Amino acid sequence: MSYLYIIEELYNQLNDVEEHGEVATYIRELSHIDSDKFGVCLIDSDNQYHQVGDSDEPFSIQSIAKVLSLTLAYKMAGESLWDRIGVEPSGSPFNSLVQLEYDNGIPRNPFINAGAIVVCDYLISQLDQPEDEFISFVRRVSKNEQINYSEEIAASEKATGYRNAALINLMKDFGNIRNDIGKVLDFYFLLCSIKMSCRELARTFLYLMNYGKDPETGEQVISLSKTKRINAIMQTCGFYDEAGEFSFKVGLPGKSGVGGGIIAVHPKQYSIAVWSPRLNKKGNSWKGMQFLERFTTKTEQSIF
Ligand code: GLU
Repeated sequence: MSYLYIIEELYNQLNDVEEHGEVATYIRELSHIDSDKFGVCLIDSDNQYHQVGDSDEPFSIQSIAKVLSLTLAYKMAGESLWDRIGVEPSGSPFNSLVQLEYDNGIPRNPFINAGAIVVCDYLISQLDQPEDEFISFVRRVSKNEQINYSEEIAASEKATGYRNAALINLMKDFGNIRNDIGKVLDFYFLLCSIKMSCRELARTFLYLMNYGKDPETGEQVISLSKTKRINAIMQTCGFYDEAGEFSFKVGLPGKSGVGGGIIAVHPKQYSIAVWSPRLNKKGNSWKGMQFLERFTTKTEQSIF
């Protein structure tokens, strides 16, 4: 059975299933999205694209961008990055403050908000023009000059970003933020606002399915060893307090965002992006999780 056949079959099945979950509303711009959107794109190791539904429509990738900021920061900092951020699953919601106090301002991992904010702080210290240089990096990895931030989404998030402000203030107090907190938060909101379609997302993450090397251009985006570690962090921390559940049911390294997107990679096999904006209680796309669970079951392929 071809990937396309399976994707189409599961897409049709899930279109008939009663929808669960709610669109994220705490970022006002995200609440305007049509909750029935549903798209999937898989790119296989022969660079064949298999896609259905709203797979060419750009949406806010939100926390999925944290994998890209981690890639750039880890490439630049090497292992010293881990002096300021852990690599343990948090078992807590993405914006939780409680753990951070116990852990003396060292976030559990780079994919919870606190960890991604420290990554932003690091990039601001290292780059002359962090916003421009980061989006250039994303464009290079995605081989797409059209990829951009959404100023509207970033502004909308900033307007109600009280929890992220609390997180950064706490970390500043513990000495784990080096730059002006307003500047770091603005950069964080911008990076979360990046828009991509499922097709663009799956394309962007090919380097993580191909041991760090872009299969099309041959560029070594990041080393083999660091790729292994980024995939490991996606596996253990990519879905907040549902990372165990995703591993258990889907069995692939992946990352979700509150815009309803999920990216997952099967090393050497494929990169797959799914988008459906209704989120379950843990903040992950309800249909996206369902789709990927059925997909790895049906294909009988997972990293385990
Ligand atoms: N920009 C979102 C926030 O900081 C990211 C959360 C997510 O996508 O999981 O709340």
